[in-house]
This record gives sequence, structure tokens and C-alpha cells, in this order.
Amino acid sequence: MHQFIDGKYREGRGEEAKQINPATGEVAGTIRYATAEDVGEAVAAAKRAFSAWSRLAPVERSTGLLKLAAELERRADQLAEVETAETGKSIRLASGFDVPGSIDNTAFFAGAARQLQGLAAGEYGAGGTSMVRREAIGVVGSIAPWNYPLQMAAWKILPAIAAGNTIVLKPSELTPGTSLLFAAAARDAGIPDGVVNIVTGTGPEVGEALVAHPDVAMTSFTGSTVVGRRIMELASRSAKRVHLELGGKAPFLVFDDADLEAAAHGAVAGAIINGGQDCTAATRAYVQRPLFDAFTARVAELMDQVIVGDPCDTNTDLGSLITHVHRDRVAGFVERARAAGARILAGGSAPGGSLAGGAYYRPTLVVGAAQESEIVQEEVFGPVLTVLPFDSDDEAIALANDTAYGLAASAWTRDLDRSLRASAELQAGCVWINEHIPIVSEMPHGGYKASGFGKDMSAYSFEEYTNIKHVMLGRDRTAHKEWQDTIFR
Ligand code: NAD
Repeated sequence: MHQFIDGKYREGRGEEAKQINPATGEVAGTIRYATAEDVGEAVAAAKRAFSAWSRLAPVERSTGLLKLAAELERRADQLAEVETAETGKSIRLASGFDVPGSIDNTAFFAGAARQLQGLAAGEYGAGGTSMVRREAIGVVGSIAPWNYPLQMAAWKILPAIAAGNTIVLKPSELTPGTSLLFAAAARDAGIPDGVVNIVTGTGPEVGEALVAHPDVAMTSFTGSTVVGRRIMELASRSAKRVHLELGGKAPFLVFDDADLEAAAHGAVAGAIINGGQDCTAATRAYVQRPLFDAFTARVAELMDQVIVGDPCDTNTDLGSLITHVHRDRVAGFVERARAAGARILAGGSAPGGSLAGGAYYRPTLVVGAAQESEIVQEEVFGPVLTVLPFDSDDEAIALANDTAYGLAASAWTRDLDRSLRASAELQAGCVWINEHIPIVSEMPHGGYKASGFGKDMSAYSFEEYTNIKHVMLGRDRTAHKEWQDTIFR
């Protein structure tokens, strides 16, 4: 059963598709997609649920979310197993990062639901005062990618429903499992039917039907920049609110005073996390010339130590990529860079032997690809790190900012002035200093430039999911007489 509508699992009315286990290439099952009609039924259920859900006292929504956190905790092993089976990511990552991160997000929004307040706009004249109400928007239509299916479902569903909205979420057609489990956990936590609905299927059919639906008040999308543009175009037809979390191409700056060992470890972890299929993954390292050779040698050495293998084995560091087609796309970037004269200091191939049937790719270090080349400019979304040298701090900042994207960046330095300059001048929604990747629920996540706009996580996400209403409370005519007299006596 691959749809969850109005508190119940059911089958979609659309076409049937095979689900492939990316780690083996074998068929793992089949899925019947939703149609536009199914989407309409999910939106109708969310619309029916909205009136009561949005009027609950915040403490009641908060209680539902706390119970949801407990339900997710109870299903933690199952969630991790399904996440690994559908994505090919290592079970260590799924059970140590994706699942606890989603549970923590649920607990965070249970608390945040009770802090949803508007700031008063202040006194007006002698007799009036004003206040600001934050109100839920209505039915939110969300569309999520395949790289962190559970976390993306959590990031979309939780702020939306904590603020009193109801939601219809479309996960990626490749990875519907944990979103469906999340919705069942919400039902078992006592969250009313219709508040959380999941429809599955492809983007052009199910995704577009959701974005275009007249009763969907807002679209929140995480995925590629190309599809984000399409979503914006569709949403513009009815001038609906849009929140876009799009691609990234995070730079990783290593200054000559950096802790080389920490930076090399940070670069490898940041580049291979989730197979590099992470919108904030470290993709472009720029290293100040005196450290360049030592950094690349150490990164190559560490990449060779990464254990690539069966994602279900707890020793595995790096499982498979999401599909064979995607793996071949990643390999294509590396091959074209090599053909153009870049040197591959680690990886650069798929492992053979017992892994030959899966969508694996080894951690790969590319040196000497030109700044303007596609491997440096475009999102590869694989465990591939390019490294280029720089001489001056000005040059480092300019190179880091020289792509269309602006989601995340890091700078490695012990110098306070350099840290402050990097945090101010790097054009990205997140700048790490001597870190790359960590983020927890109270920290906002979102992009600049072609990486989109709006925030996931943190109390800032309520900016996306609420309307701000100003209410003026007047007293009597004498209080406002002077002001009114300037218009009409
Ligand atoms: P994608 O854009 O191909 O698909 C994302 C979702 O959009 C899927 O559910 C897909 O079915 C749907 N979709 C596709 N075409 C559609 C259409 N025409 N109308 C409506 N929906 C449509 O992205 P992906 O390959 O699933 O995920 C990888 C991308 O996601 C990368 O670019 C990555 O950077 C990005 N991403 C961004 C963030 C972030 O927070 N900024 C987080 C994770 C992933």
C-alpha cells in the first residue's frame, strides 16, 4: 500500500512500477503510483482536517508531536532498515543520523509549536494598540527528494503541522517507504486523520498535480534547481506561496594556518556523507598553496581507507548510490574531467567483485580540473571532491562564490579575522568554520542564489508556514481624531 490518505493506507490508481534495490540491482518490490484523482482526494482530506487542527490550542498540537516522537522511536530500527534498503546508504548513517535526527526534529517542533507568536506592532496614539497574529496557511503541498527521505519528510511535515497547517507530501518515487511509515506513526500518535497525507508517484504526474491544485495554499519543495524552477512557474499561475530548497555545490576553504589533519578528515567525511548525495556535501576544496600537496596527499590516503560495501553491514562507511543511472552520471563527470587533463588521486571507478551488481562508486579525489569546468561548477551528487589551489584570501572567497549555488560553505582556519571574513563574505545560507555538515533542529537550513529561498528546521521555518496578520484594536473616535482629521474632517 503506497498512499496514505485521510488516516488510511491504500493503493494508488496509477501505473505500477518496480522498486530496485540499488545495492544489488535486484527488484525489491512494486509500487502503484497515485493519479491526479488520488492527489485530489488527499488534498480534500487535508482541507477537511484543517479547520479543527488549525484551531487547536498549541499545547494540543504539541502533545500530538511528542507522542509522534515516541512512535518514531518505537519504529527506529524499521525506519533505518527501510531507509537503507531504498537508498543504499549505510545502515550506520541511517540509524545514527537519519532516524535520530528526525526524532529530534519532532521533539523540537513539539516545543516550537508552543512558541509560535507574533510580535506586537506597538501602541498607536492614545487609545489604540495593535497586535500580530500568526496564522496557519491551509493545506501545504510538499515535494521531497530521495537523498534523505525520512529527514526530508520530517523537515517538511513538522513545521507545517506544528503551525496548524495540514499537509500532503509527495516523497520521491524511488524512496516512499519511510514517509509512509512516518504518516502511520502520526496516526498512531493520535494526530487526526487528514492532517498528514502521503501520495507517491512521479514528479510530472503526481508532483505537478499537487502543486497546481487550487486548494493547496503553498508549495514547499526540496530537490534540484531545474525542478524548483518548474515548481515556481506552476505555482505562479495561482500566485501561491513557494518555499524552495534546491541544489548545492559547497566550497571548502583551507587556509595556510588550518589544522591540516582536521581539515583532511573534515573534507573526506564531508565529501562522502550519504555517498556525496547531500546538498551541503563538501564538493570543491580550495587550499592555500603551501598546504596544497600535503592536503591532497592526506585526503587521497584517507579516501583509500573508506570502506565501500554492503550498506547493511555495520562496518560499511559508504554504501551504494541511489541508482545505477545516477552512478553512471557521477562516473561521467569524472571521466570527462580526466579526459580534459585532471588527475584522479583516489577512486575514479566503481568497485568490482561482489559489489559489481550494485550502484557503487569509490570516494574520488580530482585535482587540476579548471574552475570553469562542469565538475567544479555543477552538482555531481556523488562522493567526488575536486581540489584547486589559491594564493590570497581575496582569491579564496572569489573562487568559493563563483558558482550559481549558495547553500553551504566551510572555512578551515585558526585565525579569527579570517573566520569572521569568511562568515560575512561567503554567499551561502550556512557557513561552517572548522566544521562541515553538522546541523541540528534549532539551526535554520536554506539557500542563497540558485539554492533557493526559505528555511527548513528551526523556528525560522515558521516564516514559511504562517501568515502574519496585523490586528489594530481601536478604542473610540476621540483617540484617533487627530489622525483621521488629516484625511477627512
Ligand atoms: P529532483 O528535483 O529530481 O526531484 C525532487 C522531487 O521532485 C521528487 O519527489 C520528484 O519526483 C519531484 N519532481 C520531479 N519533477 C517534478 C515536476 N515537474 N513537478 C513536481 N515535482 C517534480 O531531485 P532529486 O534527484 O530527487 O534530489 C536531488 C536534488 O535535491 C539535488 O539537487 C539536491 O541538492 C537537492 N536537495 C536539496 C536540499 C536542500 O535542502 N537544499 C536537500 C536535499 C536535496
